[in-house]
This record gives sequence, C-alpha cells and structure tokens, in this order.
Amino acid sequence: MQHDWIGCAADNFRKGRHGFEPKAIAIHVIVGSLESAGMTFRDPRSSVSAHYGVGKSGRLHQFVEEADTAFHAGTVVEATWRLIDPNINPNLYTVGIEHEGQPQDTWPDEQFRASTALAREIAGRWKIALDRDHIIMHREIRASKTCPGSVDMERLIREAACSPVPAMNSARQIRAAMKVHVRCGRPATSAAISSVIPMGSEFEAAGFTVSGNACWHETPAHDYVWAGATDRPNPAQS
Ligand SMILES: [Zn+2]
Repeated sequence: MQHDWIGCAADNFRKGRHGFEPKAIAIHVIVGSLESAGMTFRDPRSSVSAHYGVGKSGRLHQFVEEADTAFHAGTVVEATWRLIDPNINPNLYTVGIEHEGQPQDTWPDEQFRASTALAREIAGRWKIALDRDHIIMHREIRASKTCPGSVDMERLIREAACSPVPAMNSARQIRAAMKVHVRCGRPATSAAISSVIPMGSEFEAAGFTVSGNACWHETPAHDYVWAGATDRPNPAQS
C-alpha cells in the first residue's frame, strides 16, 4: 500500500523480535491526529510507538518496520485475549495499528478501507488469520485501557477478509446454502429480486464485491447474491 515512512525515536522500538514473529494485529486509537502520533513516537521521552497509523482520510504512516518490535501493547492487565502468552511481552508477537481520532468516533469509510487493506496485507505477509482471535483490540491485552474505543471489529475483520477489489480471475460454481434471492444490478437487499435460487442449487459467480458489512457474489449478468447464504460466505478465500 502507498504509505509515508515516518519512523520513530531509536529508544522507542527494538530492532528484531527476539526470534518471535507477528501472530496478531492490535488495533489502537490515537486519541488525536495522525501527526500527533508521529510526534509522540519521535519523542525519545515517550517510550511508545506503533508500526502504523491510519488517518481519517485513509492516509497511512509507518513508524516501525513490521520485523521490529514496537512499544504499543507491552503492558498486560487482566487480558481477555484468548491467545495471549502470559510469559512473553505481547509487543514481540503483535503488529500495532494506530487510528486517528477519538475513542467514540465512528471511522469514516476511507479510514476503514485503508485499515482493512493494511490488515489484509500484514496478515498475508505473516500468515495471520483474519479472525477475531488474531485481530484484537488493545484493551483485550490491557483491560485498564478503553483503546481502541467503539470500533466495529466485526466489520473490520469482515472487510479485511474480503478484498474490496474483485480478485477472482475465473468463474466458479457457488452452491446456495439456503433459498437465496438474486439481486438485480447492485449488491443490496433493497435491490429488486431478479430470480430465486433454491437451496442446494448451484450458480455461477464471475467475481465478488463488498458492500458495507456484506460480501456479495457477482453473477456474469452483474446481478448479486449475498455470500452469507452460500457455501462460500467469504469469497476472498479460495
Ligand atoms: Zn492502544
């Protein structure tokens, strides 16, 4: 992804990861602007950093290399994260993404898109599953924090798992897991129904698209079937 390298103070990260690799992505909120995060991370007195920051407009700043250890989730307080290793500093096996704004903010679509595309890239590089066990909120490591606020984690994970760009290069057969309505011309339940596919029947998909929280298969005729009603609820996975 297009991003600006900002870097951080030498004392605010460690080269390498002591032999560990990222196995999860921690989501944070800056409680301020993207620029304020960069200033804090470049201040050697702050002793904090994160790998990335995502702005409200979708701007992406990088402060620490993914292969290095950022200081974003090293304090463990009553962790609720299922996969936490109580004996190892979480900074050693997580990638931290900061987000511009306040805890109560609803992320603009541009911020969501940039964050989900970034999470998808990181997950691909480190073989991290795009699910709720591996995309986590900072407060699941440190319960004394509210970070990252009210972010819609289900949407974040769903959109990270579904590429916003149609990625299939050939048609495939999809099976209806229930009776499904084929939507005419656009991926929405408000679109007219062009036909009904009985449960268990197959149909051809030429691609897929993401609309809001939902993934949709696209037929060769450019009609849409909600992927959740099929045997391929996540079209991005082959
Ligand atoms: Zn945080």
